[in-house]
Amino acid sequence: MRIAVYLGSSFGRRAEYTAAAVQTGRLLAQAGLGIVYGGSNIGLMGALADAALAAGGEVTGVTPDGLFAAEIAHRGLTRLELVRSMHERKARMAELADGFAALPGGLGTLEELLEVVTWQQLGLHKKPIVLLDVDGFWSGLLGVVDGLVADDFVPAASREYLMLAATPADLVSRLCFCLS
Ligand code: AMP
Repeated sequence: MRIAVYLGSSFGRRAEYTAAAVQTGRLLAQAGLGIVYGGSNIGLMGALADAALAAGGEVTGVTPDGLFAAEIAHRGLTRLELVRSMHERKARMAELADGFAALPGGLGTLEELLEVVTWQQLGLHKKPIVLLDVDGFWSGLLGVVDGLVADDFVPAASREYLMLAATPADLVSRLCFCLS
């Protein structure tokens, strides 16, 4: 089983974000869950991959040719798949994954997360989606989604697709439970 992990290509302002990425990488590996991610060695993405690899985990990167050429692709991964575009990359990551995890990140992370939520809303998959809520990181987004539900733009059932985990251990156990 593999989990697609979406997270920042930067480290963010708080040390807690890096600690959470490192712990998530290690715990996913220890649980025997492979990781699929954007394939880069920078920011939280690199921290997650390094920690999972150090714990003996399987890490697959999916990255567009152009970004690979920019030499920020992680060279030590179990597998690095090169694709032709960012669109192809997201589709391939989702295809390889049995579940999804979102950690703190920026617009790229948000976009990837919301895409798999909308795909679930459309009935295209039933894979679990868990957000790691490091110090309330996701409360702003969830507030927006709650507002959309209150305004009848989003079905209440779609809000349930966004599962929250308080810690990396909680994230991994929720994913293991959903996949068992
Ligand atoms: P951001 O949150 O804006 O830092 O973007 C991070 C997310 O977008 C990650 O989950 C990646 O899948 C994707 N991404 C952003 N930058 C890169 C990159 N240089 N190489 C591969 N994927 C990236």
